[in-house]
Amino acid sequence: MARHTSLRVGGPADLYAIPEDADDLQDLLEQLAEKGMPWLAIGRGNNLLVRDGGFRGVVISLERFNRISAAGGKRVRAEAGAENLQVVRFAQEKGLGGIGFISGIPGTVGGAIKMNAGAYGSGILEWTESLTLLRDGSVAEYGREELDYGYRRLTLPEGDIILAAVFNLDEREPHHTEEEIRKDLELRRSKHNVGFPSAGSFFKNPVGQTSWRLIDAAGMRGARVGGAQVSQVHSNFLVNTGSATARDFLDLSTMVKNAVLNTSGVTLEEEVRIVGENNYE
Ligand SMILES: Cc1cc2nc3c(=O)[nH]c(=O)nc-3n(C[C@H](O)[C@H](O)[C@H](O)COP(=O)(O)OP(=O)(O)OC[C@H]3O[C@@H](n4cnc5c(N)ncnc54)[C@H](O)[C@@H]3O)c2cc1C
Repeated sequence: MARHTSLRVGGPADLYAIPEDADDLQDLLEQLAEKGMPWLAIGRGNNLLVRDGGFRGVVISLERFNRISAAGGKRVRAEAGAENLQVVRFAQEKGLGGIGFISGIPGTVGGAIKMNAGAYGSGILEWTESLTLLRDGSVAEYGREELDYGYRRLTLPEGDIILAAVFNLDEREPHHTEEEIRKDLELRRSKHNVGFPSAGSFFKNPVGQTSWRLIDAAGMRGARVGGAQVSQVHSNFLVNTGSATARDFLDLSTMVKNAVLNTSGVTLEEEVRIVGENNYE
């Protein structure tokens, strides 16, 4: 999974499946249910830490679900595997905007929705009208009001797969949307370019606080375990300096959490999703 995740660590999955469409995906899930095999749906792995023993089961990539279309009025429908920037660009061509803040967030619509990805205090679900979900073997639409979501999370019943989202956008002059895109990409170049593979912010910001300040206050900027390091550029990014293992990241994460708890009394919570098996006792 090191090849499929931005942290570049993680052992192999038993199988890696790339379904063609919803029917194909449904067939696959039926077969996996019959065999009792676990599975995990992923986007581009930009928020995923897979342990070194890999994933016992099937990792399902939704990369073929990548269509984006106009959905009437100010709406744009994007399938789960569409890249965030492509969605913003498509909207811009239609004179629509508002979600420029996701332009530079690496990943897909499915990953962005599941994480309620965002920046500058906005989250993608604020702009989402409805989701198409595969739930208990059936495909159905769910309005945003039916969803349980908050800061960097959408809580779905176990086994749900996001197939597509409809965004309800603002009418904008294309150059205003271009301005939003430019602002976002520039911010990323200046603040988020940490020079090494990462998963973006490793920890969620506790209410009313910022993780990077807490990590700095604990003296953890630059701290290292093996090939994993707290970035010197942005201390809420844990980076792979070249030879990191998932264990290095997990040990570094524990070290940072303990240091922050000791200095500030705050328990940090990982934003990054941690999955898979260890390869040690
Ligand atoms: C350099 C860098 C900068 C970043 N900056 C930001 C930022 O500013 N703001 C921010 O919010 N995030 C940021 N991130 C984190 C990451 O980009 C987001 O969380 C992104 O939304 C992940 O998308 P993905 O497609 O890679 O999802 P993945 O990492 O593949 O998946 C994330 C989670 O969603 C689940 N999932 C994915 N697709 C589906 C689906 N179709 N159905 C059900 N579950 C699904 C996965 O199982 C996993 O639990 C950054 C990451 C990097 C590397």
